[in-house]
Amino acid sequence: MPLALDASNFVAAVKHIFSDSWLGLASLFVIFYFYHMLGITVGYHRLLAHRSFSCPKWIEYFFVSSGYLAFQSSPIWWATIHRGHHRFVDTQYDPHSPRYGIFHSFIGWAFKNSYTDDLNPQRQSKDLIKDPFYMFLEQGGDWRRMHALNSIIGFSSRLLLFFIFGYKIALVSVFAGLAAQQLPFLLNLICHIPQLGYRNFVGKDDSVNIWWVAFLTTGEGWHNNHHHTPGSAKSGLKWWEFDPAYWVISMLGAVGLAKKINVWSRERAYVTTLATKN
Ligand SMILES: [Zn+2]
Ligand SMILES: [Zn+2]
Repeated sequence: MPLALDASNFVAAVKHIFSDSWLGLASLFVIFYFYHMLGITVGYHRLLAHRSFSCPKWIEYFFVSSGYLAFQSSPIWWATIHRGHHRFVDTQYDPHSPRYGIFHSFIGWAFKNSYTDDLNPQRQSKDLIKDPFYMFLEQGGDWRRMHALNSIIGFSSRLLLFFIFGYKIALVSVFAGLAAQQLPFLLNLICHIPQLGYRNFVGKDDSVNIWWVAFLTTGEGWHNNHHHTPGSAKSGLKWWEFDPAYWVISMLGAVGLAKKINVWSRERAYVTTLATKN
C-alpha cells in the first residue's frame, strides 16, 4: 500500500512540475530532446558505428534504446550506412552526399527498400549482426519493415506515458523524439556543404564544422574534425569546440562504466592527416 501511494505521489508530482504550465512542458521537451540526442550521438554514432569506447551491455542498450525511440530505425542499418558514409565519403558510393542532390542527401536516400552489394551489414557491420536483439530490429534487412517496426514501437511506447502521465507529457515525448530524429538527416546535408562552416583539416571530402549544429546535436557538428578523427570519442578538438557527448563518455569513464575510450589529440590527428596526404 505505501508503495502504491508513493507511485501515485510520484505521478502527481511529475504532472504538477511538467504538465501544469508552458514552462514545465518546454523544460520537459528539452530534457527529452537531449535524452534522445545522446542516444543517437553516444549510442548509435560513437559507440555502435565507430566503437570509440567500450561499456557494459546495459549501458549500450540504454543509449541505443533512447536513440531508437527517436525513430533512428535499426541500429545495424544506421551503423552500416554511416560506416559506408565514412568509407566512401562524397563519392558516388556515399549513401548521402549532397554532391548528388539536396533531397537525396537529406532524406531521399532513406526511402530505398534494401542494401546494395557494396553497402550491407555482412560487409560493414559484422560485429553488430552477432547481437540477436539488433538482428530482430533489423527485420531481415528489409528497410521498410525495420522502419515500420521502429514507428510501431516508437509511438506505442508513448501510449504508456499517456496512460500514466496524461496526453500532454506523451505528446511532448513524441515531439522531442521526432525533433531529435531530424538532426542526423540535417547534419548529413548541412555539414557537407563547404560554404556553411569551417575546416580544421583539409581533405578530399566536403565536411565542415558548424557550431550551431554542434549545439543541437551535443557535439556532432564538429563534423570536419570527425571525418579526420572518426574513431575518436571526442569530436571537439579546439578548447571552445564544446562536446557534451564526449563529456558524458568521460563521466562514464570516470565511474568505471566506459573503457578503452579512444581520444585523438588535435596534434595527432593533424600529423595523421599529413601522413595520409603524402
Ligand atoms: Zn560526413
Ligand atoms: Zn561518424
